[in-house]
Amino acid sequence: MGTKVIVLGGGFGGATAAQKLDKYLLNNDVEIMLIEKNDSQTYLTELHEVAGNRIKPEGVKVSLKEALEYTRVKIVQDEITKVDIENKKLYSETSEYDYDYLIIACGSEPAYFGIPGMKEHAFTLWSLKDAEKINKHIREMFKKAQYETDKQKRAKMLTFIVGGGGFTGVEMIGELMEWVDRLCKEYKIPRNEVKLSLVEALPKILPTVSRENLVQKVVNFLNKNGVEVKTNSMITSVTPDGITLKTGEEIPTKTLIWTGGIQGNSFVANIGLNTDKKGRIVVNKYMESSNPYVYAIGDSASYVGEDGKPMPALVESALQSADAAAYNIAASIKNTPKKELKLNLHGNMVSVGRRFAIAELSGIGGLSGYPATFMKHIVNMHYLFGLSGLGMCAQYIRDQFIDVPDKGKLSIIENHVAVTTNMFWLSLMRVFLGLMWIISGIQHIQEGWLSSVKLSAGASSAPMQNVPAWYGWFMEKFIFPHAIFFQSLITLSEIGIGLLLVAGLFTFIAALGTIFLHINFYLSGMATFNNWWYVITAIAIMGGAGRAFGLDYYVMPWLSKVLKHWVRRKKLKLNVF
Ligand SMILES: Cc1cc2nc3c(=O)[nH]c(=O)nc-3n(C[C@H](O)[C@H](O)[C@H](O)COP(=O)(O)OP(=O)(O)OC[C@H]3O[C@@H](n4cnc5c(N)ncnc54)[C@H](O)[C@@H]3O)c2cc1C
Repeated sequence: MGTKVIVLGGGFGGATAAQKLDKYLLNNDVEIMLIEKNDSQTYLTELHEVAGNRIKPEGVKVSLKEALEYTRVKIVQDEITKVDIENKKLYSETSEYDYDYLIIACGSEPAYFGIPGMKEHAFTLWSLKDAEKINKHIREMFKKAQYETDKQKRAKMLTFIVGGGGFTGVEMIGELMEWVDRLCKEYKIPRNEVKLSLVEALPKILPTVSRENLVQKVVNFLNKNGVEVKTNSMITSVTPDGITLKTGEEIPTKTLIWTGGIQGNSFVANIGLNTDKKGRIVVNKYMESSNPYVYAIGDSASYVGEDGKPMPALVESALQSADAAAYNIAASIKNTPKKELKLNLHGNMVSVGRRFAIAELSGIGGLSGYPATFMKHIVNMHYLFGLSGLGMCAQYIRDQFIDVPDKGKLSIIENHVAVTTNMFWLSLMRVFLGLMWIISGIQHIQEGWLSSVKLSAGASSAPMQNVPAWYGWFMEKFIFPHAIFFQSLITLSEIGIGLLLVAGLFTFIAALGTIFLHINFYLSGMATFNNWWYVITAIAIMGGAGRAFGLDYYVMPWLSKVLKHWVRRKKLKLNVF
């Protein structure tokens, strides 16, 4: 029987560790098991978007089954309640599991620092359940406030406070800021009755962002949108009806969302391994705990690098420590040298609602506004692509932009982006475009494009005086000397693209080909302004028009499976970040 490796926790670190174990132990007889208490991975970094009604709860669920398809990893949905390190066993309410090696990837939980009433009365944002609870509560407050005649009670219901000005706190208040605008309209409550505050104990928010100008941009953006940012304001107690600050100020509220601190998962802190003050398992540079058969990664691990810097609780740390742990368990099984963790973090990104973000990225520098928002989406998709392939990226786009909860209540552009189009109608355009290409190709054959020179300075149908100088130079230098070759290439491409479009096969690529050909025709003077409909139609059909009455309906899911299988088995290196 093979060596048994169990990964406990299927979050960012755990899922990656399981994938990497399969890769590093490809030729070894091992049993790899991933135990996760939820039915999917929770994409924690987007929880504020669920809490603030930007995306639906499904938008933060990542299927572990899909991510680990074509690997040997067995996924078990169970909650482990006890770890017996001595006898190498894990226990849940109903089952027990033996292991030879264990990777603990159980994440972290909120820290309350003993603040009276915090644990009992504050909302936290650390699981999908938390996010859904916040979402429900905020809507509830608006529902009740609309009929409340007592001014003080109504004001308390409409005061929303986020405690902690780190990444999570800023992202949470940013979502609320946008959502309350929509809620005010829905429940007919004047916006100036709603109070939003971000309360931070330190002198500044976002302490891990080093560029002061970026932090100031966030503060300005929040202020401009009606959020009060209170720094130097430590929360000292919480009741069901309000909070008290160290300054003595009391703020009546029914809503405090606490994001002010994290600690290791308390379940992990009590299993008998060496832990730090925050209850995280102390590991060495190979991610080994005080027991050589137990490794810890991500938020569950406490690691201080050679530079003396502690590993921060970030996604990148989880992914890189997961890789190191998997590699070193494989090395231990194969008796090969281990490798130490060399953390290589690429920066920070913080969104403040749907339309504003800041980013501090190594190699790029500081970004703000739409470019930073764009980068955040790219990084999210990069992770999902690495974990699960193109399908998850497509789902991400759907969840973020199309299948959104507040459809119809967003900005004009966002509402229009969110309109779903019936692919049936676009398939008619696709077939028509395809036929036009085939006709154009046949005409070129009839005109002799395959046998006699048509593209030359004299014979070209292009009125050379309208051709941009650089493109004219390009034609003279490269096209005209090989006219028959390029004529044949163009003609066959036209027919090829046409056939693909009619069949609805590789529609995206055929649409790209359409755009490329048209731009060249236009630059060479062979196309008129009227021909731009080719490009517009090509863009319109890119979003999947081949899936209605087209072969893409069958080929794309099949290809996606084959690719995923190939990537997993070929051990293709897909680095995240
Ligand atoms: C709202 C929010 C926003 C964030 N934003 C960012 C950001 O923008 N950038 C960034 O880099 N980081 C961000 N983080 C931090 C980041 O999400 C964590 O650092 C990362 O998730 C750590 O990964 P992990 O694998 O260690 O733990 P997790 O991803 O938390 O995974 C732990 C898993 O273990 C499972 N588990 C726990 N106990 C058990 C048990 N007993 N039995 C079975 N399963 C168990 C859990 O269900 C969970 O799936 C954010 C976190 C939050 C909450």
